[in-house]
Amino acid sequence: MAMYVFKDIDRKEKLLARNARKEDKNQRFYCPNPACDAAMHICNLDGLSATYFSANRQGHIENCPFGSSNDFNSTKYKEEDFIFESALEALTINSKSQTKRETPNEHKNGVARPRPPRTIRQIYSMCKSYDCCDTYNNKIIGQMLVDSRSIYMYPKGVFGWRIIESKCKKPYFYDSETKVVSLTSSVNIGEYEFLLKFSDKKMFVEIKDNIYVNRDRIIVVAANWVSSGKFNVFYAEIVSKKQVTII
Ligand SMILES: [Zn+2]
Repeated sequence: MAMYVFKDIDRKEKLLARNARKEDKNQRFYCPNPACDAAMHICNLDGLSATYFSANRQGHIENCPFGSSNDFNSTKYKEEDFIFESALEALTINSKSQTKRETPNEHKNGVARPRPPRTIRQIYSMCKSYDCCDTYNNKIIGQMLVDSRSIYMYPKGVFGWRIIESKCKKPYFYDSETKVVSLTSSVNIGEYEFLLKFSDKKMFVEIKDNIYVNRDRIIVVAANWVSSGKFNVFYAEIVSKKQVTII
């Protein structure tokens, strides 16, 4: 679901869901994806749960991040419990070492209790739903996800815990000798390079093979990025499969 749209086809005037008013009710809005011609409308303006935008007549183009590929539903998650750094750190802990049933998802009567977004997919979809200058539990979206919208916020590079949207480096994207996968920023290809370093050979092979069959798709990685020492090249240790997903 989209939490913002544009009022005009040139995508100059933004409208955040939380600022939508009655007079916007029957308006046609434009999908935030400039390549997508979906006609968007306000949903749930008078409802008890959050207002959002959806395309009801003219649909989204395939794989539009504001269409059905993004199933983020703000009412299903508990925003006030979301702490970005902790959520990303949790992705680096392999499930086996986690205490099961520590935070039960359901009440005794079987009703799901809202939790903050926690998988890389959920956090990525949440970030895509909101405008990159908007916030989620007081954290700026662009300070969590590096994508075509927020890349301007990173003139000096990408450091610390961030989710990156990336593509395979061409022509070669991996080195089996050093167990490194090379990715590049999804916009301005080649501007920034991201190296995923693995210490686990099996995990390296599995992720590298998965990327290979999806090499033209978007690769999303959640990690703690540091400078590699080379200009505009950053690296991160990948210790869990939960840190990488393909869109
Ligand atoms: Zn769209």
